[in-house]
Amino acid sequence: MDCPIGLQNGMCKGMQRQKEKSMSKSMMSGQKTGDVDKRIRQIGALRRQMNAVILAHNYQRPEVQDMADYTGDSLELSRIAARSKERVIVFCGVRFMAETAAILCPEKTVLLPVLDAGCPLADTATAEQVRQMRAQHPDAVVVAYVNTSAEVKAESDICCTSANAVEVVHSVDARRPVIFVSDRNLGHYAGRMARRRMILWDGSCPTHAGLSVADIRQAKKEHSEAKVIAHPECLPEVLELTDRVAGTAGMLAHAAEEPPGTAFIVGTDIGLIHRLQKENPDKTFYPASDYLVCPTMKLTTLEGVAHSLVRMEHVITLKESVRARAQAALDAMLAVR
Ligand code: SF4
Repeated sequence: MDCPIGLQNGMCKGMQRQKEKSMSKSMMSGQKTGDVDKRIRQIGALRRQMNAVILAHNYQRPEVQDMADYTGDSLELSRIAARSKERVIVFCGVRFMAETAAILCPEKTVLLPVLDAGCPLADTATAEQVRQMRAQHPDAVVVAYVNTSAEVKAESDICCTSANAVEVVHSVDARRPVIFVSDRNLGHYAGRMARRRMILWDGSCPTHAGLSVADIRQAKKEHSEAKVIAHPECLPEVLELTDRVAGTAGMLAHAAEEPPGTAFIVGTDIGLIHRLQKENPDKTFYPASDYLVCPTMKLTTLEGVAHSLVRMEHVITLKESVRARAQAALDAMLAVR
C-alpha cells in the first residue's frame, strides 16, 4: 500500500513516495477488506450494546470515517454529540475535540479511543500562560481557537473555529486588541480579514505550517488546471497563492459547488481527500504536499475503537468549574452572527 491512509493510486500519487520519505508505518491502514468488514460489524454490535454514537473527524483514516455515524469538523461533531440521544460518545479525533464534546455534553460519557492522540498546536498554550498574557494586555479580548484545551477555553472570552474566526474577531470592539490563542497563522488571517489589532500566540500546527510556497508551486506545475484550496492554519505566504481559503467544512462546501470535472490541489491533511473524493466522484483532488499528514489524527484505528467500547475508555472528565467557563466561551461564539 502506497498511501498512508489508504487513498487510491492516481488520486494521490504523491503518496507513493511516502515510504522513502520516512512516513511512519503506524499511519498505514494495512488491513484487508475482510478484516475491516469483520471489525466494523463488531463495532456495530458494541455500539448498540453500549448505546453509543461514533464521531470521526475529517482527518481520520478512511476506514474510521466510513465506520463512523458522523464525520465532520470538531465543532460540527460536538454539536451533533449534544443533540444525540445516545449516552456514550466515541470521539475519533484528538483530545481537545473530545474535551469540546465533554464541555457541551456534561451528562454523557465521552470516550477518546487513543489517550496519546493529542494536538501539538493545542499543547502550545496553557491556562497559566493565557492568564499572564491577559495581565500584560488588560484591555484585550481573548479569542481561543477551538484547538485549545478546556482549561485555555475557560480562560478566554470567546472561542472560534477555522470556519468562523473572521466573524468572531470582527465581532470584537475595534478599540480593543485581540489576544488570539493558539494558531498564529489563523490569527493573522482573521485579523487581516476583520481589520483588527491582533496579539498573536506563538503556536502553529506542524502539519499545516509545514506546507511551503515551493510545495504549492510544484503542485501547480504538476496540475496546472487545478484550483488551490488551503486551510487558514497554513503560512500567510502560502495562502496568498491559493484560490480559496477555508476550513474543512468550507472546502467540502466549495468542492460541491464547483462543476463536474474540476480539479483541486488541497492544502490540508490528506484525510479530507477521502471525503472530498467520496462526495464528489466527478472531480479530482490532489494533496498539496506529501507531508500533509497529522500523525496523531491517524493513531485511531478500528481496533482501537472496538477496544474503547469494550473497556469504556478513555473517559474524558473535566472539572465542573473549568467546563462551565469553557462552555460560556463556546456559547459566546455561537451567539456571533
Ligand atoms: Fe492539531 Fe494540526 Fe493535527 Fe489539527 S492537524 S490535530 S491542528 S496538529
